[in-house]
Amino acid sequence: MATIYYDKDANPDLIKNKKVAVLGYGSQGHAHSLNLHDNGVDVRVGLREGSKSWKKAETEGLEVCTVAEASAWADTIMVLIPDTRQPQVYTEHIAPHLSAGKTLMFAHGFNIRYGTITPPENVDVSMVAPKAPGHRVREIFTEGGGTPSLLGVHQDANGSAKENAIAYAWGIGATRAGVVQTTFAEETETDLFGEQAVLCGGVSSLVKAGFETLTEAGYQPELAYFECMHELKLIVDLMYRGGLNYMRYSVSDTAEHGDYYAGSKIITDETRATMRQLLSDIQDGTYAEIWIEENQQGHPWFNEQRAKEQKETIEKVGAELRSMMPFVEPVTIKPGE
Ligand code: NAD
Ligand code: MG
Repeated sequence: MATIYYDKDANPDLIKNKKVAVLGYGSQGHAHSLNLHDNGVDVRVGLREGSKSWKKAETEGLEVCTVAEASAWADTIMVLIPDTRQPQVYTEHIAPHLSAGKTLMFAHGFNIRYGTITPPENVDVSMVAPKAPGHRVREIFTEGGGTPSLLGVHQDANGSAKENAIAYAWGIGATRAGVVQTTFAEETETDLFGEQAVLCGGVSSLVKAGFETLTEAGYQPELAYFECMHELKLIVDLMYRGGLNYMRYSVSDTAEHGDYYAGSKIITDETRATMRQLLSDIQDGTYAEIWIEENQQGHPWFNEQRAKEQKETIEKVGAELRSMMPFVEPVTIKPGE
């Protein structure tokens, strides 16, 4: 069974006595820095000169300086800039200030797991990775709750890397919900697998394939949209609250029969073999190599896919239908965004 840390396992003084730099003020950065600040931790936000977030962070009551200044000042440095930009920012602005005894922290293990960042041996390297988008991490915290998170220690140079990481997790409210002990490798590999096979790649392709099957057979696209995309949320909400059992309890017997009848025909042995191949490419670094190379090339393939996907029929049909349903709080992504 997993080891899970809660408030009772945290020593808040360990983080309250430290100077904490949070680098970046995006999704995770704003949530971590504001939660830490509210919990009485001495925080500075590190940003690029001229960053749009600079003013925002100051307005929200935080002290802001450059990434290099924050890294020089802090004992504990949490890196919350985009994973693909981290290696360069690390080399230029963080590494020069990583003196012995400091702690370098991440909210995702990619750069440590695949060696695109290699910190010196005399610093602690740990991870607290919330399992929610940053705006939820902040919202839940202000409501008195917390976000479940993953904790890992890559390097324990000072002998208390884990205790310090648990204290950091307390600082952002994560120990209110539960912080699961893991490793950088497990977090990174499962995260990549999840987004590829299930959460993003799997679901998007399933939705599109269903939509296309119906529209190609002559059914109305609006109806296909409601069936294959809109209703997915209602199904997932049931799963979120009570698992597959509760979803199956709530739908009709015919729908439940359809679930058992069709599921194994859609996710076949071939699909499972593909899942294992995706996982193996993640484990042996093949996938990381592809993505790192793509980043170095300036995203040619990635941008091409994005442009193509944004023009899909289901996206046009969906945008129109959602505009008639203000209660779903529709948002529109402009091409190229
Ligand atoms: P984000 O894109 O929302 O924010 C990135 C921030 O970094 C922005 O403030 C941006 O201005 C700043 N930034 C960009 N380039 C910079 C540079 N060169 N120098 C300094 N600052 C720069 O990113 P995010 O989604 O908050 O991700 C941050 C980390 O958190 C990543 O490691 C990610 O894997 C991890 N994470 C994200 C989520 C999530 O749901 N968003 C969940 C768990 C973990
Ligand atoms: Mg993830």
